[in-house]
Amino acid sequence: MRDYLRLLAFLRPYRRRTALLVICVVLASSLASVGITFISPLLRIMFEEDPARVTEVQSPPSPGGAAGQPSGVAAAAPRSGIPLPESVERVRATASQWLHQRLYHGTKMEMLTRLCSWMLLLYFLKNLFDFAEAALLADLEHRAIRDIRARLYLAIQALPLGFFSKERTGYLMSRVVVDVDMMRGAIVGGATRIVSQTIMVLLAVTIVLLVSWPLALSTLLIVPPNVLLVAAISRKLRKGSHRAQEEMGQLAAVLQETISGVRIVKAFGAEAAEARRFDGRNQRYFRAFVKLKVVEALSSPVSEVLGVATAVVIVGFGGQLVLQQRLRPDLLFMFLGVMLWVIAPIKNLIKVNSTLQQSLAAARRVFEVLDTPKESEGGETRTDVCDLREALRFERVGFAYRAGEPVLRDIDLTVRRGEAVALVGASGAGKSTLVDLIPRFYTPTLGRITIDGVDVQDIPLSNLRRMIGMVTQEVILFHDSVEANITYGSPDASAERIEQAARAANAHEFIAAMPHGYQSVVGERGTQLSGGQRQRVAIARAILKDPPILIFDEATSSLDSESERAVQEAMERLMRGRTTLVIAHRLSTVTRCDRIVVLDRGRIVETGTHEELLRRGGAYRRLHDLQFATEPADAAHPRPDPELAR
Ligand code: ADP
Repeated sequence: MRDYLRLLAFLRPYRRRTALLVICVVLASSLASVGITFISPLLRIMFEEDPARVTEVQSPPSPGGAAGQPSGVAAAAPRSGIPLPESVERVRATASQWLHQRLYHGTKMEMLTRLCSWMLLLYFLKNLFDFAEAALLADLEHRAIRDIRARLYLAIQALPLGFFSKERTGYLMSRVVVDVDMMRGAIVGGATRIVSQTIMVLLAVTIVLLVSWPLALSTLLIVPPNVLLVAAISRKLRKGSHRAQEEMGQLAAVLQETISGVRIVKAFGAEAAEARRFDGRNQRYFRAFVKLKVVEALSSPVSEVLGVATAVVIVGFGGQLVLQQRLRPDLLFMFLGVMLWVIAPIKNLIKVNSTLQQSLAAARRVFEVLDTPKESEGGETRTDVCDLREALRFERVGFAYRAGEPVLRDIDLTVRRGEAVALVGASGAGKSTLVDLIPRFYTPTLGRITIDGVDVQDIPLSNLRRMIGMVTQEVILFHDSVEANITYGSPDASAERIEQAARAANAHEFIAAMPHGYQSVVGERGTQLSGGQRQRVAIARAILKDPPILIFDEATSSLDSESERAVQEAMERLMRGRTTLVIAHRLSTVTRCDRIVVLDRGRIVETGTHEELLRRGGAYRRLHDLQFATEPADAAHPRPDPELAR
């Protein structure tokens, strides 16, 4: 229920349309219920042999309860006995009088013509409101869906990085695409259907009670057991739908992983294993889905059996009342007509419940994402900090991805303005984690990181990240032009500045040689460029951004030597004069840095220049001998082992 109210809140901006929709729903469903009562006057006009009896007006009820000759739509009191409470009786009598004065006069042919034109008018109006209802519904629903998607997209972007390593991309994608679409049914459609069908059912119940309450009550006795049955089925449906959606999310996740990692799958000949993994998920989805459909298939037959059972009771018991002359035959037919007609709204109510449950399950998954805490939550008061004047400092920083498993411990490190610091260490030592803490991709579990003495937690995220340029090992390019990829994050750059940045990044030449120059599209994730070219586009991007702090996860040996030299030159140009932290894989980079920090299992074990550390003969020396042994010190064509460097 809370989820449902939360869904309805998305309609708040569209109050006027919603009110209009409600009016249309009420009018359309009321007219539909009234329409069905036309059976009675129709039958009377056609089959009552004595015209005088048709036009007879019912006398007001006598205190004794037995009414006079009943007539008209609501003239429902039976010929003998079965009285209604007096106030109800009066309303009914007034209604029947109203009807008599307008309908039952003149010849039978005139009455018939009059009745037909009434019916025509009534159904015309009903359909007019139906149309308005459908149009308003579609409009409102899609407005709400559009708003929810926009909110969800913003929420996903604001999620902390840690969330993305826990949830798989496909899973999140299926929430935005599939789940949001499924929510549509619940927001407006479900509510309007519930309102309209309930109105129809209530009106139908009122009508049959007025016609003959004993018959109506005995018919209605069948309803409660059926409601219980339906409730049980809908509970099963809700669970089933939740499972099927979960399975679909998992299936999408596997699919996404295989498609985006298709190179690796092919390279390792893992097609069969991946197919098995997919088959497993596919099979689970199939099972969950079929189970859901079986339960769903059960709900229609159940309500049909209810319908037939109701009809049998009416024909049996009502027929008896007619034979005993306690009920007029035309009213029995109207009763039957109303009951058969009301089956559809009842069925719809049952169905609406199942779609509503599915939609609510989808809504719950969407809300889960919306409710995940954002990566920055206020408290960022230092809007004045937007440059690095003195130093970037790690003060006794500790960090753990999972509680109790520290990845970084007691990190004390000062990087002064303009200084270049190399981070070296074995794979898994914590180098990437350490640099990820600076732009607040993660928050230190202990200690703090400061820029000129201000804790980075106090600097608004957007300001902080504007100060930092990151060139990562795995360059992410978007499926767009080279220019758009270079200007990513600085969209206002002039063509001149873009070219300058590309030249400085040693990228201008290869870009100019592409078929459409700067407008050439790079392919998804930049697959149409070589590794070195991608790196240089990323460097050009960082040069254009011109950040005071630079974080560099230096590329490994995947580049050919010419590319490597071009990348290295570009990198040096970029680093010049900037405060830089480099995760260094090449000896040449290491030696050119002002200081080297050696990390081992999350701790800083050594700090110093290349020569100092070599002389000391400690961890760096060992690392150096292992890793850089094959490289000459001024290596222009280094071949470090990427595995060791990571
Ligand atoms: P390096 O960059 O030195 O190779 P990392 O900083 O990538 O090291 O990793 C340090 C440790 O943290 C490793 O043991 C790694 O398994 C773990 N780790 C890295 N990223 C995550 C993550 N998103 N969730 C949990 N553990 C992680």
